[in-house]
Amino acid sequence: MRFDFLTLFPDICRTFLSESIIGRAEKKGYVEFYYHQIRDYAIDKHKRVDDTPYGGGKGMLMVAEPIAACFESLCNTLKIRPKFIYMSPRGKVLNQEKIKELSKLKNIAILCGRYEGVDQRVIESFVDDEVSIGNYVVTGGELPALVLADSVTRLLPGVLSSEICYEDESHFDGKTIEYPQYTKPAVWRGMAVPEVLLTGHHANIAKWKNDMKEEYK
Ligand code: SAM
Repeated sequence: MRFDFLTLFPDICRTFLSESIIGRAEKKGYVEFYYHQIRDYAIDKHKRVDDTPYGGGKGMLMVAEPIAACFESLCNTLKIRPKFIYMSPRGKVLNQEKIKELSKLKNIAILCGRYEGVDQRVIESFVDDEVSIGNYVVTGGELPALVLADSVTRLLPGVLSSEICYEDESHFDGKTIEYPQYTKPAVWRGMAVPEVLLTGHHANIAKWKNDMKEEYK
């Protein structure tokens, strides 16, 4: 799978995605990440990418043309049109079902907004999906884009080692969260690990884990 990030801060994305499990996944070729500086497509001689909103109001907005030109250039390079997602607090809130759906795709391009967001006309002209990471606002679309890219990448075949089975994890079935987990020592600051986990009795342990999974309210 290939991700393309359209952003004013490519280094934020690059730094995060080159580390740990996701960084190794890219090195092993399970996923590719490309970063596109929207400012490079600014038509203004000062490379401005923002302007004041029509009708007044607070703050600035990202202007349409650099985003459009950046996306069109990407489509020309890829020779296909990737699914284009705008990270936005106005979008539908991301969940594991959506992550699974996205993990089936070959190409995803993500627009990271800044300022007070982007000119609506660019959304209407190019964007397939507006996705939110929750009902709150962060300063830019890079963190939300990383949440999406990380959660999709870890579902790609080969990315997680076989011991780590994400099918047992919280939210995978859309209904349950994971059972509580414990590691050594067996007693820590006077708190003991649940007895059954020390018995080695596989059937009882499986039953305990199942009982401990909490149904969504
Ligand atoms: N004025 C916008 C509003 O009220 O909906 C918020 C703009 S926010 C300060 C700047 C950018 O951060 C957005 O364009 C978007 O890309 C990103 N962003 C902020 N919160 C987000 C969220 N919960 N989910 C996804 N993206 C978010």
